[in-house]
Amino acid sequence: MKGLHLSFDRAWLALVPALCLVPALVQSGGTVPARTVDRGLYERHIAVLASDGFAGRKPGTIGEEKTVAYLVDELRRLGAVPVGEGGFIQPVPLVEIAPQPEPQLSFSTPRGTLPMRFGTDAVVFTKRQMTAAEVESSPVVFVGHGVVAPEYGWNDYAGIDMRGKTALILINDPGFATGDDTLFRGRALTYYGRWTYKFEEAARQGAAAAIIVHETGPAAYGWATVVNSWANPQLDMQVADKRAGRVAIEGWITHERAAALVAAAGHDFAALKKAASTRGFAPMPLDVRATASVHNTLHRSNSANVLAMIPGTKRPGEYVFYVAHWDHLGRTQGGEGDQTFNGAVDNATGTAGLLAIAAAFAGARERPERSIALLAVTAEEQGLLGSEYYVAHPRVPLAQTVAVFNMDALYFGGPTRDVRVVGAGASELERYLAEEAARRGLVPVPEAQPEKGHFYRSDHFNFAQAGVPALYLKTGVDDLDGGVAHGMAREADYVARRYHQVGDEYAPGERLEAGLEVVDLIYAIGRRIANETSFPNWNADSEFRAARDGSRGTAH
Ligand SMILES: [Zn+2]
Repeated sequence: MKGLHLSFDRAWLALVPALCLVPALVQSGGTVPARTVDRGLYERHIAVLASDGFAGRKPGTIGEEKTVAYLVDELRRLGAVPVGEGGFIQPVPLVEIAPQPEPQLSFSTPRGTLPMRFGTDAVVFTKRQMTAAEVESSPVVFVGHGVVAPEYGWNDYAGIDMRGKTALILINDPGFATGDDTLFRGRALTYYGRWTYKFEEAARQGAAAAIIVHETGPAAYGWATVVNSWANPQLDMQVADKRAGRVAIEGWITHERAAALVAAAGHDFAALKKAASTRGFAPMPLDVRATASVHNTLHRSNSANVLAMIPGTKRPGEYVFYVAHWDHLGRTQGGEGDQTFNGAVDNATGTAGLLAIAAAFAGARERPERSIALLAVTAEEQGLLGSEYYVAHPRVPLAQTVAVFNMDALYFGGPTRDVRVVGAGASELERYLAEEAARRGLVPVPEAQPEKGHFYRSDHFNFAQAGVPALYLKTGVDDLDGGVAHGMAREADYVARRYHQVGDEYAPGERLEAGLEVVDLIYAIGRRIANETSFPNWNADSEFRAARDGSRGTAH
C-alpha cells in the first residue's frame, strides 16, 4: 500500500458534524437501534490520521505536531471545552534513555564465570533516569514467580532479605504454570504474572537487581520481542525521584541461559520451576553472583495528552471518560520502500472513534447530565505513559470519574454477531454492556486468550489501577459473512502482516462496520451512565475494587 496519499478539503470537513444527527441503520430487522456515531466521520478521521503526512504519529516528531493540532481543532470545532485548568493540552514530560555503550552482564559461579551476550543471551537496562547503574558481585536468589499476593495466600519472598541481592524471577504466575484453576486464576493472567509487576515487587523487596527468565509460552511472545522492546532507547515519563525507587538493574535472560546458570549452581531449572508453583515455596539462594553495568545518555522532551469535554447539564462535576492513544511508531530509519508506520488500525481507529463519539454527544438533541471527557493520550506504545501521566496528574478527581471506555486497535472488518470483552468478569459496567448489546442482537464474549494479558496492555489499565471502573472492548470475530473462521483469519492476517508494521494502513473501501459497532456501543453505554446517578463499581473479587472503595469512600 505504498504511495497512498490522501488530501482533504477542510472546508468540506467542517460540514461533517451536522451529518451525525442523521442516524444510520446498522442492520435490517427493525428492532436494532439506529447507530448514532457517524460512519463517514469515523472513516475520514482514520484516513487523515493514518495518512503518510502524519508520519506515523511518533511522540516528539512532526507527526505529533500534526496529530495534536488536528485533535485540538476537531474538538474545539465541536464545541468541546477544556477539562479543569490548562487548556486542551496536558504537557507530558518524557525522557529518552539510550544505553551507550552496550550494557554488560555476567555471573560468577562455582564452575567459573558465565558471561551473557547482550541481546542474544540477556538484556539488561535501568529504569533509573541516571547516566549509570550497576551491581557488583550481587548474590542471586531464585524467587519463583516473584509474587506477594496476600489474597491468594502466596509469598515468594517469605523470610528473605533481598537488600543488595539479585532476584531471578519466572514470568507469569503459578496458575498458568500448573493450569490449576485453584491457583490464582488458572490459565488467565493476573497482574502478578506481568513483567511490570515482577520489577515493581523486586523494588519493594529492596533488591539490587531483578532478572526475569523468558519463556515463550508463559510470556506469550518470543525472545525477539524482548530484544526489540529493551535493546533500543526507551521513553519514560520524567519523574521527580528519577525512579530511584526502582532496582538498579532490570533485565531478561533466555530460558536456555537461565537453565545453564542454575545448573552451574548445582540445581535443575525444571525442578526449581516445579517447586515454584507449589504452595509453600520458599525463595532459594543460588551459589552464584551477578555483576552488571549500564551507561545511558538522557534526552528530555515534552509530549502531549489532548483532553476536552462536553459539559454535563445536571452533574457536570461527574465524568464519563473515553480514552484512546493517538501515538504510534513513526517511521523506519533508512531503507527502501514504504517507511511509515501509519498505524491505521493501531490506533487511528480508536482516535477516530474518540472524535466520532465527541461529535455524537456534541450533536445530540439532549446533552448528557454528566460530563463527557475525551482523552487522547500519548506514548502508549512506549509503555502506557500518557495515561499513566494523566492518572498521576488528573485534571478532575478520579473519584468523580465514573467510568472509562478505552478504544485501541479496532480491527477492520464487516459486521459481526459478537463483540469481545477484554478482562471479562471484572466490573458492573458489563451489566450495561449486556443490556445494550442485547438490544442490538450482539453477543458479548470474553477474549479468547486471557493468558495474553491484553487487559494490562492498554491505557484503561492505568485508570483501573487507580480504581476507576474500565471497559475495554475489541471488535467481534464472528463475522456476519463467513462466521468465526472468517473473522479469525481476518485477525490472524492483521497480526501477521500489519501489526506494528508499515502495512498497517488505511485504503478506501476497508470494511469498518466491526469497529463502528464497538464505538457506537460504548457511546450508548456511556450515554446511559451519563444520565444516571449511580457509580458502577468493580466486582467484589476484582483486584481493583479496593482502590475504588478507598477513593470513593474518601470522596464523600
Ligand atoms: Zn494500540
